[in-house]
Amino acid sequence: MKYAGRVERLRGEGAFDVLAKAKALERTGRSIIHLEIGQPDFDTPQNVKDAGIRAIREGQTKYAEAQGMSQLREIVADYLQETRRIQVNPEEILIAPGVKPIIFFTMLACVNRGEEVMYPNPGFPTYESLIDFIGAKPIPIPLLEENDFTMDTAEIEKRLTPSTRLIILNSPQNPTGGMIKEDDFRSIADVAIAKDLFVLSDEIYSRLVYEGEFRSIASLPGMKERTIIADGFSKTYAMTGWRLGFGAMNSRLTDYMTKLMINSNSCTAMFTQFAGIEALTGPQDEVNSMRETYRKRRDLIVEGLNRIRGFHCMVPRGAFYVFPNHRALGLKSSELADLLLTEAGVACLPGSAFGQYGEGYLRFTYANSEENILSALEKISEVIGRTGG
Ligand code: PMP
Repeated sequence: MKYAGRVERLRGEGAFDVLAKAKALERTGRSIIHLEIGQPDFDTPQNVKDAGIRAIREGQTKYAEAQGMSQLREIVADYLQETRRIQVNPEEILIAPGVKPIIFFTMLACVNRGEEVMYPNPGFPTYESLIDFIGAKPIPIPLLEENDFTMDTAEIEKRLTPSTRLIILNSPQNPTGGMIKEDDFRSIADVAIAKDLFVLSDEIYSRLVYEGEFRSIASLPGMKERTIIADGFSKTYAMTGWRLGFGAMNSRLTDYMTKLMINSNSCTAMFTQFAGIEALTGPQDEVNSMRETYRKRRDLIVEGLNRIRGFHCMVPRGAFYVFPNHRALGLKSSELADLLLTEAGVACLPGSAFGQYGEGYLRFTYANSEENILSALEKISEVIGRTGG
């Protein structure tokens, strides 16, 4: 049998590979602390669950508008005005089953085969995989610890060519927890305008900011037309399994992306959208209390990792990951992640799973209980102590 070349170029996600290995160990009776998968350990708030259940009971189980319910699009438009200070028309919004489809559709709608896409490296693995999938050329922009893991404009400028089409930004960032600096936002916007580029701004961690304020590049003058904002409910409202996200983009692009929806998913489940309406319009105290809990856990894990020999961990400004440097230990990140899984029973991800510039780092999520974090730190410390050197 002969398969299409493009599927050979798709890659999985390290988080799912490690999860499978960890589960296999658990089946042999080992107990594992899961710090690999990037999802809230909290349950979806009760009022949001109730809204979804109510919608199912009321028969909201049919096909919906492909672009998303107009009521939810209006609410999302208000939400963007409130959180980004940008005027968005509900016609410029697409509701989708998660943030991932918005990323996928952006690639399909904005980039031709052979064109170039810049993306953060280390970064969310889906970006590079999809760039390869559509036959475009991936141009990694290194995010460096010495630059606080910001996306440095000088690094972008060095790599610009006439084929550059799209720049992907992600702030707060997975896996580093870094955020793009105000100056860099401005100069990236200048480059995008001067070179007539699209910007995909993955803002899924917009509500998980601990230091400073969240900023969207779309709010800078001249940027709204060329920016695709991707955000959603997965992380903010602990709704990863519901599959609900949204994109905001110019109206022509919304039309193209709506056609992509029609040709792939048809629509986003209605009852899920009703849950989304409740999430955005109902009380926000749980979102705030989840964020404050993450902040405490962040401080705990950063301090703990910095006490372990060979680790150096920066304080992340957002999201729920730490990305400690372990170069002093002289092991490859995949070797160290394997060692910690098999010897310490702690699942984490090698930095190399996020691209070549992630080598020398590990990613731990702190979306887990304080008790588990403390126990993981103790086990890691013990294993590192035994490795000598
Ligand atoms: N973007 C980033 C940066 C992420 O970390 C994730 C989830 N790990 C996603 C997008 C996917 O979000 P969703 O589950 O809403 O599709």
